[in-house]
Amino acid sequence: MSDASLIAETRRVLLDQGGELDLELLDSLSRLDDVYVPTLAGIAHRVRLDRCGPTVEIEGILSVKTGGCSEDCAFCSQSSRHDSPVKATPFLDAEEVIRAASETAATGATEFCIVLAIRGPDERTMLRLEELVPEVAAATGLNVAVSAGILDHDQAKRLAVAGTHRYNHNLETAKSYFGEIVTTHTWEERFETCRVVKENGMELCCGVLLGMGETSEQRIELIGQLRELDPTEVPVNFLNPRPGTPLQVRKRMNPLDAIRWIALFRLGLPGVILRYAGGREVTLGELQSMGMTAGINALIVGNYLTTLGRSPDEDLAMLEDLAMPVGALSAAF
Ligand code: SF4
Repeated sequence: MSDASLIAETRRVLLDQGGELDLELLDSLSRLDDVYVPTLAGIAHRVRLDRCGPTVEIEGILSVKTGGCSEDCAFCSQSSRHDSPVKATPFLDAEEVIRAASETAATGATEFCIVLAIRGPDERTMLRLEELVPEVAAATGLNVAVSAGILDHDQAKRLAVAGTHRYNHNLETAKSYFGEIVTTHTWEERFETCRVVKENGMELCCGVLLGMGETSEQRIELIGQLRELDPTEVPVNFLNPRPGTPLQVRKRMNPLDAIRWIALFRLGLPGVILRYAGGREVTLGELQSMGMTAGINALIVGNYLTTLGRSPDEDLAMLEDLAMPVGALSAAF
């Protein structure tokens, strides 16, 4: 197929028919010359408006238990197996968490995610989360999400009963590349956690981390694997190489390539909440607002788990300039 026919077919399937692209077509789009990136971004933006509407969802995240993680994820500065400057800290108390959640609510955010750097929750952690989730929700009116690693069925059920709105568990990368990045747990364990989250009625937030050395084919493979899980939200992280981690020597993704992949994730996953997450400021630089018109419809504002983001005011100003309304998105599903 010629380049022009590829673009025409993409428009026909996604915009005229409201359908889904097959992965081969998506793979062909990933190989188009850079001059086509704005065209892909434009189609992705139209797809996002058609399927999700104009609203942008804002979320704050808070690391309530930082560092000292037993796992060996090669990108992560919170692993106790890497010689990283991030040191382990104990579980924050409820007051500190509610203070941070209230600050998040003041930005117009609707979602607040409590994040723990752990393989999965032990019984003590489960009991704390079962207390904390309803407390934060009642104090702030925010939807409360949790990210606490690998869950079994019973744990997922308990978190759902406690009122957890969304559970975050990232696949991070394609099954065929996962073994290069993590050896202490398997891709299948992650996939199974995502499955039990949905089975127990929580919304699934399942993110990716691009730029770890995976191939374009593996990114397309990952889109296919995300389709199997059908998550509500997909946060897109870009590798921000952290000192002391095995990936510290990797180069950051090129900004235009990052825009291409934002667009491709929207074209491949037309109805998801596609959220800007870690690494966007350092990867995209001046192109951050272009991502908002390339398929992104949600942001994490403020700081990330171990790195600083730009100020929420700058993001809110960007959304105002783009005339994009802020609100909750899960109701649309
Ligand atoms: S990504 Fe999560 S599981 Fe992996 S080392 Fe970091 S905190 Fe632990």
